[in-house]
Amino acid sequence: MAERTLIRGGYVLSMDPAVGDLPVGDVLVEDGRIAAVAASIAAEDVEVIDATDRIVLPGFVDTHRHTWQAPWRNIASDWSLFHYFWGMHTGLSKYYRPEDTYNGNLLGTVEALSSGITTLLDWSHNLKTSDHTDGAIAGLRDSGARTIFAHGGGAPQWAVVPQNAVPHPADDVRRVREQYFNSDDGLMTMAFAMRGPQLTVDAVSLHDFALARELDLDITIHAGDGDLGKGRPTEWMLEHGLLNERITYVHCCSLADDELKMIADSGGKASVAADVELQMGHGWPATGRLLAVGIRPSLSVDVCTSTGGSMFGLMRTALGTQRGLDNAALEATGGTLANGEPIPLTARDMLEFATIEGARACGLEDRIGSLTPGKDADLIMIRTDVLEMSPLNNPLGALVYNAHPGLVDTILVAGRVVKRDGAMTGVDVARVRALGERTRDHVLAQARTDDLIGDIALGGTWTPRNPAHAHGHGHGHAHA
Ligand SMILES: [Zn+2]
Repeated sequence: MAERTLIRGGYVLSMDPAVGDLPVGDVLVEDGRIAAVAASIAAEDVEVIDATDRIVLPGFVDTHRHTWQAPWRNIASDWSLFHYFWGMHTGLSKYYRPEDTYNGNLLGTVEALSSGITTLLDWSHNLKTSDHTDGAIAGLRDSGARTIFAHGGGAPQWAVVPQNAVPHPADDVRRVREQYFNSDDGLMTMAFAMRGPQLTVDAVSLHDFALARELDLDITIHAGDGDLGKGRPTEWMLEHGLLNERITYVHCCSLADDELKMIADSGGKASVAADVELQMGHGWPATGRLLAVGIRPSLSVDVCTSTGGSMFGLMRTALGTQRGLDNAALEATGGTLANGEPIPLTARDMLEFATIEGARACGLEDRIGSLTPGKDADLIMIRTDVLEMSPLNNPLGALVYNAHPGLVDTILVAGRVVKRDGAMTGVDVARVRALGERTRDHVLAQARTDDLIGDIALGGTWTPRNPAHAHGHGHGHAHA
């Protein structure tokens, strides 16, 4: 007997043009897959989930998050990209034990899942030892979310020196591929999180690309992140025959237009992390410039040390920023909105970026990203019986501009209910929070004894300094 669930009477946004929007619709889930989407489905022997006053849509996909940092939520909300490198990356990261990597990944992924992100690409770059790697993978597994573990090395590869020459840890990435991911069909899959050529020497970059090819892994790579992206890394990749359709380029803010065209011509994909890019100085989010060359981007949270971890805030920021840029460009050329032409970027675009385009960036578009019969049943239900969603005149606009994680009522991952009536069902949230605090407290105690870090404090008062200029405790100012 098949296991069947009927989600009944919701406002269904399928994000599949062939299925469309259904102001009142049902979704039938059978053995973990979407069996049917229609205005009304007659089915017996099913478990019914009432979706009255709920928007039903595919789960969100976050295509790039450094999940291990979750215990440091908002510590970096007033930091630049360089403060972050000094404070988080080569500062706090070194005190992580394998259990801390586990705790961070568990907290970060459960938080993301609870907010409606059913698929998370963990851009995992604090893997000091193989035990840390195992901890990272276990944290993802225990969350109940669909995840892509993107192996990104650790502090040796990420120490901020011009042209870091330490190659990607080949033994560990080979071991993980064989031990955990010898199939690409599971709820967890694997990718290669690579430094861009702007961050290493040519020989190491070529080594890393060869390693990803050897292991048959998709690549996710930072490119165009502020000053670090201005050395035309994409052109270098083109010249070395390294551009292809299995690469997702994160940020793209400071890549030139012709570099974006090179990515488009190669079939590459993009990830816009609008909140972090605006805050940390990566440059303007590249949404509009990517669209101009034919790339529909995905979205990513990046570091919840700085910004919020949900797709709602991210969609709002990405849409507002691009609209502001478009309006400014129009004004600069003497144009006007007085002719009544529609504005080019819409709330529906943002929801597509957050769902189906995210699935594409993760190479999972055949399995997730829309409510399409045959795909895995990753779906979320958002409450609309609250003041901020009433009356529901435009569910797309309401999701982008009014919704928030507190309204995410019910979540299915591959047909399995992981949140119901606003409560997570498969994990002990109190325990997950406690583990995050335990890691935060352990690392904090260690870091307080470290002269290179110095002056660390909670409460929003700590600004990391360049460790190259460290001279003992008592001076917390950053020297750029
Ligand atoms: Zn990143």
